[in-house]
Order: sequence, then structure tokens, then C-alpha cells
Amino acid sequence: MKTFSHGIHPDEAKDLTATRPVRRFPFAPNFVVHLAQNTGTPARSIVQPGQQVSRGQVIARPEGFVSVPVHSPVTGRVKAVANSFDHNGNPSPSILIEADPASTQDVVVQSYVNLATLTPEQITQAIRDMGMVGLGGAAFPTHVKLSPPKGKTIETVILNGAECEPYLTSDHRVMLEQPENIILGAKLMLRATKAKEVVIAIEANKADAIEVLTKACADETNIRVEVFRTKYPQGAEKMLTKALLGKEVPSGGLPVDIGVMISNIATAAEIGNLLPKGMGLIERVVTITGDGIANPGNYLIPIGTPLSFILKTLGTVGTPYKVIFGGPMMGKTVSFLDSPVTKGTSGIIILAEQNQEDVSHMYPCIRCGSCVDACPMHLVPSRLGLMARSGEYDAMVSEHHLMDCFECGCCSFVCPSNIPLVQQFRISKQIARQRKSRV
Ligand code: SF4
Ligand code: SF4
Repeated sequence: MKTFSHGIHPDEAKDLTATRPVRRFPFAPNFVVHLAQNTGTPARSIVQPGQQVSRGQVIARPEGFVSVPVHSPVTGRVKAVANSFDHNGNPSPSILIEADPASTQDVVVQSYVNLATLTPEQITQAIRDMGMVGLGGAAFPTHVKLSPPKGKTIETVILNGAECEPYLTSDHRVMLEQPENIILGAKLMLRATKAKEVVIAIEANKADAIEVLTKACADETNIRVEVFRTKYPQGAEKMLTKALLGKEVPSGGLPVDIGVMISNIATAAEIGNLLPKGMGLIERVVTITGDGIANPGNYLIPIGTPLSFILKTLGTVGTPYKVIFGGPMMGKTVSFLDSPVTKGTSGIIILAEQNQEDVSHMYPCIRCGSCVDACPMHLVPSRLGLMARSGEYDAMVSEHHLMDCFECGCCSFVCPSNIPLVQQFRISKQIARQRKSRV
């Protein structure tokens, strides 16, 4: 079975939600809609405090090429355009909207599109107009991926349904419940990129999704399913291309450098769902899970719904100890109850205090080599960790390829000394980037 070398096998912890079909989540009384919901430049608000907005209406326009518009997730009144906090705890410009309790919350802003007559450029523009970004977590604008730089072409589109992060099952449910949308999204991406084929990549632990999508693309000549070994981080872009095509994305490069575009499977499903209706991205499927939540499941949640409303609606078990936006390996711990669901939120994990293992004490490195065996990028995390602790940031980059680390967390996960390696590398990369920008 296709895979990459190294990596880890953490407890999957997916059974809490894997068999729970997607259900619509209720509307919160108040929404926090971030303007920076995409990698690149944040959108610019075009609404004023006091203004009435409709669900689906554009409320922020893109700024520059690597940027997408933001649509209102709710019919209501703009309370303020002000800073809120992002998932890192940094101030983030946002539009705060009070929902209209009398509204049916039907989407009124839509215009049906004639798919047959669209040119590749029009498809790419329509995908941008819907505010589409990668729904796997990185939130990179999809139209940018669909527009390779001059001199480069896309041969293969990979739809990433690996969902290798423990706990998360939103992509799994989308694959089971929306195969037609995925195939239509795949066809639109094929037309936009002029690629030769679409490969749907799924890990072997999702046998039902493999069956559903294999059937769905049985009549397609250029869309197929490939099964990958269940291993973390199988869904990382570099691991997928290596496992599928035997090609490596060059250091510091992008998949397009080897003729590949990779998109999360849920992104393809939303393109197939929204583009024909001319609608914007205003809600997404989110896995809410963990031993600290009373009603775990997969929910279709309006973007901008605050964490506090989710916890109140679903109920908590005991005292929540930690809330993670994203998966446990690459997600972010949040401490602010107004933290909202954004376009990149694939899951929210709520962990209960009583079940936590104490990993707060760090011991010296015992040179066991486990981190070296785990690193999918074949780095030497133990050495990098020592250098991070002694502030050798420039040498970490120039001699030990720090920038190839994509923060998968495998090294921290296996370290018996509880050394927070990935956290040290994240900070070291930031410092190295700042130093470089000052030169
Ligand atoms: S976090 Fe970085 S160094 Fe650690 S295993 Fe992942 S890629 Fe390797
Ligand atoms: S896993 Fe931890 S203890 Fe073992 S070599 Fe790596 S840093 Fe050292």
C-alpha cells in the first residue's frame, strides 16, 4: 500500500464521531467573523456598524491576489467592525454580527451558473468569488493554487481525503455523504487547471468512503481513488506526493514545482455544492469531539459561530482542560471563549481535566533516537532541539534544514523526555524569519 518512510501511529480516537452523520448546528445569537480567514492578505470590510446584512451577502472584499472575499454567515445587524482575538490570541480585525431572531436564515443572495459555458478562467474566478480556501486547515486561497505561475503546469490534482490527524472525521463524513459534490468539484478543478487527472487520496482506515467514492467515479476516465496506508502525517502534501508519484517537492518549493496541485477533499465538495448556485462559503462541516464534550459529532456550523455557543449547545463533561482548534497534532490550543469557527476549522477537540496525563515536566535528552526515526522529513530533531535551546537559529536553518520542518509534531509525540521539540522549532522558525527580514 502506498505510503512514506518514518511517521507515527497515534491512537486514532475517531470512533467518537466517525459514524455520526452531519447535522445542522443552530444559529448563535452573535457571530465573530474574522477578516483574516485565508493565508495571505486579510479581506477588507465593506459594511458599517448598524448595517443590516443578509446571509450570503459579501461583507468584506479581497485585498490583492492572495486574498478572498468574506460572506455574511447570518442575516442580522452589524454590531461593530473591531478587533477580536485569533486562534493564536493575537488581535484580529473582525465583523461582529447580531443574528436577527425573526429571520428564517434562508440564503437570499445567489445566482445560478451555467456550468457548461464556463471557461477555465471563469471557473477559477467563480471559486475566488465564493471565498474558497483550503478547508483542511491551512486556508490557502484555492484560486491561487488553480493559477500556476508562468512556465509551470498542473498535471495531477490530488484531492486529499487522508484525514490522518487523530479525532477528526469531518472529511470522512463529507466523503460518505457528498460523493456527487466531490466528483463535480473534481471535474471543475480539472477544467480550471487543464490537468490530466484527479486522484482522490484516502487512508485505508476509511473502507466505507473508499467504496462510496470508487463507485462514484466508476464512469470517469480521469478521476480515480488511491488507497494509502494509515499513518500520520500521511495527509501532508509532501508525504502524499512522495507516496503517490514517487516525486519530492523540492526544499522551499511547492507541489506545483512537480506539476501537482493538492486540495482538501472538503474543498472539492464545497466547490461542487456552491459554485453551481453562485453562493459564497458561509458554513462548513466541523468535528466537535473529545472526552470533554457531552454531544460529540459532525456538525454543519455557520462560520463565525463562537466557541462559547458551541460549548453551551453541546454541553461539557466535567471541567474542560484544553480546547484545540484543528487536530491534536497540528491544531492550536485556544483560551478565548469568543474564538470562532473559521473557514479553516475542521475540528474542535475538547479534553476533560480528569483524563489528562501530566507531561509538564521536561527531562534531558537521552539520545534514544526515537525522534529521528519518526521525522517524515528525515531531519534530526534531537540536534535541532539542542540548537534551539542554545539559540543557534542561523545554523539550524543553514546546516540542519529547519525550514523543511512542517511542524507535524511527530518528534514531540514520541519523545520520552517530554521535550517540546515542535514548539521550539515553531519559535525558532519565527526568529529565523525575523532575522532574515531585517538583513
Ligand atoms: S515537527 Fe518537524 S522536526 Fe519534528 S518530526 Fe515533524 S517535520 Fe520532523
Ligand atoms: S526522542 Fe527526545 S530523548 Fe529521544 S533523542 Fe529525541 S529529543 Fe532526545
